[in-house]
Amino acid sequence: MDKTSDAVELEAQVYGERRNKSGKPVKMPQFEKSTVHMRDPERVEQIICGLIKGGASKLQIITDFDMTLSKFAVNGNRCPSCHNIIDNCKLVTEECRAKLLQLKNKYYLIEVDPQLTMEEKYPFMVEWYFKTHTLLVEQRLERDKLAEVVRESHAALRDGYEHFFDRLQQHDVPVFIFSAGLGDVLEEIIRQAGVYHPNVKVVSNFMDFDENGVLKGFKGELIHVYNKHDGALRNTEYFKQVKASCNVVLMGDSLGDLSMADAVPHVENILKIGFLNDKVEERLDKYMDSYDIVLVKDETLEVPNAILQKVL
Ligand code: C5P
Ligand code: MG
Repeated sequence: MDKTSDAVELEAQVYGERRNKSGKPVKMPQFEKSTVHMRDPERVEQIICGLIKGGASKLQIITDFDMTLSKFAVNGNRCPSCHNIIDNCKLVTEECRAKLLQLKNKYYLIEVDPQLTMEEKYPFMVEWYFKTHTLLVEQRLERDKLAEVVRESHAALRDGYEHFFDRLQQHDVPVFIFSAGLGDVLEEIIRQAGVYHPNVKVVSNFMDFDENGVLKGFKGELIHVYNKHDGALRNTEYFKQVKASCNVVLMGDSLGDLSMADAVPHVENILKIGFLNDKVEERLDKYMDSYDIVLVKDETLEVPNAILQKVL
């Protein structure tokens, strides 16, 4: 079937006018990176064309935080999750740190185990969070110390994050950060990075402090790695507010992140970008089945930024 001139025009926007020696259009240079994996590039092209057509007014971003907006590793050294920032901080006793590390060693392996289903992992995640959060409450963490703890940490956002957040703000595109990390730490990271713009909404596990600013528990229902569909549904009010934004770019690093957009009422186009950071060989196939674009050990936001540049 002949393509409409509209479609040809949009395709030219995605792939650019450059052609290789055999006359085939050259794709976006960022898609040529060795980190980029796609099961169905043509489908990706179609979705991006849909996003371009809809423009800024129809777009929303729904993104995970730890190991998606934040880096997984720098020079082979692991970067901290929001929880790890607290695990490693000076407010926590050595004894508690050892217990938290022991828990992480056990449960992180379950989180990323390629053999287990999400349903099988679910109760272990609940157990991990329950034990961790109980230990943190016992430490009587002080709210006023969190900013300093984050400043002194090795928290790192993926390269290109300024561009990402600034462009989305300029075009007034809603950004929903949906994290099973620690909301207070997360907010502090993006505030200190200068990108906590008014178009950004954070849903996460927020600490509950007593009248002296000492941690006494956590607010609301727990969000863990594999119950984001419940969390999405609890936030239907937010999605109703942005219901005109029927084009979604979803970004995550876990298969649990795929359900973050479940509560969006009328999705026209959704592009799912997955960062595959760990257990790559064992999980690549499954990730390619589930995410439209899989970025393997890619510590940058180059690909999302290149797509946003076309759309906005
Ligand atoms: O933002 P995101 O939803 O990715 O946050 C969840 C991450 O927090 C998981 O990848 C998990 O490994 C990490 N985590 C942790 N320590 C805990 C619980 C979760 O580092 N106690
Ligand atoms: Mg994550």
